[in-house]
Amino acid sequence: MRRADLIDKTLSLILDDGIKTNFFRSKSFLISGGAGFLGSWISEAICKIGGTVYCVDDFSTSPATNVDHLRQHPNFHLIHENIVTADLSAINCDFVFHLASRPSPEDYQLHPVESLLPNSTGSQKLLSYCKERGIPIAFASTSEVYGDARVIPTPESYWGNVNPVGLRSCYDEGKRYAEALFMAYSRQYNVPVKIFRIFNTYGPRLRADGYYGRAVSRFLMQASSNKDITIFGDGKQTRSFCFVSDTVRGILYFAQSTLVNEVINIGNPEEMTILQLAQAIKEVTNSKSDVVFAPPAPDDPKRRCPDIRKANELLSWTPKIDLKTGIQMTLDWNTSS
Ligand code: UDP
Repeated sequence: MRRADLIDKTLSLILDDGIKTNFFRSKSFLISGGAGFLGSWISEAICKIGGTVYCVDDFSTSPATNVDHLRQHPNFHLIHENIVTADLSAINCDFVFHLASRPSPEDYQLHPVESLLPNSTGSQKLLSYCKERGIPIAFASTSEVYGDARVIPTPESYWGNVNPVGLRSCYDEGKRYAEALFMAYSRQYNVPVKIFRIFNTYGPRLRADGYYGRAVSRFLMQASSNKDITIFGDGKQTRSFCFVSDTVRGILYFAQSTLVNEVINIGNPEEMTILQLAQAIKEVTNSKSDVVFAPPAPDDPKRRCPDIRKANELLSWTPKIDLKTGIQMTLDWNTSS
């Protein structure tokens, strides 16, 4: 399949009847991390329905190719900078999305300081920008704020079980600090904030290479080439995988809603073991790969599954794409040109 057709297909799944086109068409959006795995789909979806996007991204963890095809779009403006150091004073916009962050566990553990700063200094800078202009801001938080959760499925009311000095703390605690800062700006300065906690997401543009690889993207790459599928630990740890169009649709539903000063889980509640994920990917790819086991990742959460009743009740959002359909679309993307 042609890559352009797969982009159109993914965008049509994002931009369903629940999207309030008028909300986005009439506004300019500053999107930190707007060229990333999730950010690039948000940027493109908003441009497609007539909104204006100022994408601030330094391509530290995402390739420029994610947005190369958007550079000619009249509504897309790229600011090739790190959000911590970028000068935003000349950008006038109506709404901010803060997604800039290093999301891959292997990568962020190699760059703990660079992982903390966009969530601490970057968040403070964007919140102050929104305070000056009196505009709302949506923040990409994570299921990692729950750490090794003891309540499964995990509701937003769960406080978390996080090691503050562990190897993952540069990510978990960075996001937790950011959430606290967002709520502080909301309480003290009335900045309207929207915090969405993203659970494992996969799909087109999720990197498979090097330290950026995640379970779905790596297993797909390994299975497609009949190489060993490498599971860290015994494979009994669980995750719940949401296809990217569902995650992005949930984020846009939240953005366009009147809800502010709220925290909402966005994820797929279908919990499975990593071993089951490997088997599902083997089936879709018709692969002859063996599954092999390697030492477990440090501080790896044992179970992860979102309680999405709040998103369902407040946003009328629920994921639509099942795992096999999503894996097939991701495989099509990987083999497209
Ligand atoms: N994982 C694995 N092999 C890989 C990559 C990941 O077994 O090549 C495991 C990882 O240790 C974790 C789960 O798969 O238990 C999900 O990892 P991922 O990096 O996708 O996301 P995380 O939930 O850790 O943020």
